Amino acid sequence: MADKIFLEIVTPEKKVLSETVDIVVAPGEMGEFGVLPGHIPFLCKLKVGELRFRQGASMRHVAVMGGYAEVLNNQVTILATAAETASDIDLIRAKAARERAERRIAESRDKVDFARAQAALQRAIARLKIAERQ
Ligand code: ATP
Repeated sequence: MADKIFLEIVTPEKKVLSETVDIVVAPGEMGEFGVLPGHIPFLCKLKVGELRFRQGASMRHVAVMGGYAEVLNNQVTILATAAETASDIDLIRAKAARERAERRIAESRDKVDFARAQAALQRAIARLKIAERQ
């Protein structure tokens, strides 16, 4: 049995990363899940949050904006709506997005505006969490 996992993260715009890793922990819609080598085939939806993976002694973090995860033959494929590694995240932009979302939540007059602002706030919070780990 292979003792590594091949992790690939792609978005509609680009390939974010492809790496050989020891373990992947991803934000599943039903909760966080971990994948080690030899994991059974698996498909699930992702929520907005933090994906992390370990390579030897180093742990790396990626902000994932929802999408799907597939586990098959020691490969984890993340099809994300958007995803950024810590070094890709523009901190000023994420802080501005958080402030905008908080303002919209406070001012929202209907459910749709509120839900959109809530979703934008979750994305900004996920980005800030990853960026601030650097
Ligand atoms: P914003 O309001 O700042 O555009 P958003 O949450 O609406 O944020 P998304 O729709 O999730 O943005 O993403 C659109 C594109 O912009 C994606 O390619 C995403 O990777 C990129 N992106 C969004 N915010 C950032 C950021 N803070 N740093 C780097 N890339 C970002």
